[in-house]
Amino acid sequence: MKRNLLNVFALFFLLVNVIGCKKEMIIPKEQLGSNNQTKSLIIDEGQTVLGEKLPNPFTVENMKAAYSILGGSSTDNIVTNQKYVRFLISNPEESKKLEELGLILSTIPLDYEVLQYGTFYNDPKLNNQVWMYTTVSPTFDFTGFQFQIIDDLFLPNLTIGTTQYNSIFNSFDHEDLIDQALKLKGYGNETTEKTIKYRPKGYIKVQQKITSTTNVPVKKLQIRSRWWFDWGIGYTDDNGYFECSAQYRKNRNVNIICVFENQYVNIRAIKGVQFWDMFFTERKNIGQYQNSNLESINYLFQNSTDINSDTKRKWMACHAINSIREHHLYCTQNGITTPPLHLNLWLTNANENNISLSSSAAAPMLKQISNNSMLVNGVQLFLITSGHPWFAAAIQVLEQYPPDITYNYSDGNWLNEYSDQISQIFYHEFAHASHYNKVGNTYWVNYIQYIVAHLGYGNPTDPGSGRIAISEAWAEFCASRFAHIRFGSTTSFPSNTWLDIIEKFYPNTGTSSWNWIPNGVMHDLTDIGEPTFTQVVDNVSGYTMSQCFGSMDADVISVNGYSNRFKLEYGSAQQLEIDELFKSYGY
Ligand SMILES: [Zn+2]
Repeated sequence: MKRNLLNVFALFFLLVNVIGCKKEMIIPKEQLGSNNQTKSLIIDEGQTVLGEKLPNPFTVENMKAAYSILGGSSTDNIVTNQKYVRFLISNPEESKKLEELGLILSTIPLDYEVLQYGTFYNDPKLNNQVWMYTTVSPTFDFTGFQFQIIDDLFLPNLTIGTTQYNSIFNSFDHEDLIDQALKLKGYGNETTEKTIKYRPKGYIKVQQKITSTTNVPVKKLQIRSRWWFDWGIGYTDDNGYFECSAQYRKNRNVNIICVFENQYVNIRAIKGVQFWDMFFTERKNIGQYQNSNLESINYLFQNSTDINSDTKRKWMACHAINSIREHHLYCTQNGITTPPLHLNLWLTNANENNISLSSSAAAPMLKQISNNSMLVNGVQLFLITSGHPWFAAAIQVLEQYPPDITYNYSDGNWLNEYSDQISQIFYHEFAHASHYNKVGNTYWVNYIQYIVAHLGYGNPTDPGSGRIAISEAWAEFCASRFAHIRFGSTTSFPSNTWLDIIEKFYPNTGTSSWNWIPNGVMHDLTDIGEPTFTQVVDNVSGYTMSQCFGSMDADVISVNGYSNRFKLEYGSAQQLEIDELFKSYGY
């Protein structure tokens, strides 16, 4: 049964043009040197290590004392406007609730020195629970949560722009108050040169591996900056450049965190060690910066030969976040419907001996289908092993964050080593997501049910196989086209571009497990000519990718249905040639 499920997902939504063989990985030693700029050690594998608890300058008590020293009108003005709290989280539902309330959650306490930033932190005394630290408003409703209030806070910045500001700050301003509060707790060196401020900015890049390794931008990556309870946010642009919204004074230690989350996608990963870590989107703490170092941050996500490493997982997450950005861009440029926003994307490196999502990649769109009754069953289908110690926990997490897109990079497949192959697989799944956004739930539920019932794509003679044939043909056409836009002549295929690959598709109807799916047919609608060895009769030309997608309607559930719709909508002048083309693909 497990084996069968594995097979289902080995085929599920993924088509592979296998050319080449497994090659040795080359890890370049280049690093952008960000570690030299940060105050704490950054490690790619292992646990975060805390140092001393730091005296908190923002407590109401300390702020009142500072306010008095400055000669403020009345310390009655200084009242709790935030509470520094921690929640004890036992299940993903609780953490999701807090997140949906707009709280920024941290497993690392906000009032501790950090000696080493690793990939996770948990209080060593806890077992299968985690403390999450944040600030909440004084009127926060704690009903149903296990929590502790650590400090009542007065955060002067929150009064900016309010009516009370002028009555609190009539002879000095909020920064003077913060400075005085800092001095009282021994942070005098953070209060100099009031006019000098530093905005976190810089570049985030990732190693791209194709024929050689180069560094390319990480696109639309969320960057958070934090000093005490003061958070800033920014996103990298298509050059990997970001600027955060907040500015910080001299000598203040500002923590910078990369979060794999944006308007397009939330990226999570199944991890084997700390199950609660799955509650969060993938993230990487890249250290603490001060002064001018804040304005020249450079961080490079490196590759790794070890598929079980945190380094490799982040590297995959970079490819995912870049691919979804590129997919949206290319869709817009080519007149294709974009996928729904805020997709849930799950990565896993688990193999069949462990817990896993699909064994390749898939676009089940389970969060989007949402209220459908297949959700719970659908989620469980993605877990191929029961009896694992945290199987139940993983199901819980997946039910809270149902996968729209999954990608398993565990199998040592050479495809998972090359950036162009990985991106093409992501484009393929996102092409399904675009199609889903056009055709809706009913179409997609039927699609998934067919795949499950037939343990994969089934046979061309199976009732309903037409839906698979046309959907997969679209996804592979779109993926190859987008991969060609992105990678051009630099690919991991020996002397072939992604355009060559789709052009050379050989429709081997009836003799292959998957060549009955007409991968090349849409490309042939758009190009001129055909290599003779494919035996495809292609006298059609001049159509656009947008037209190819235009006929992917909700009631088009077969290849013939597609060609008829296409002729009706766009094909009047080349009807005979279109018929010839589809016939040579076996339809
Ligand atoms: Zn597919």
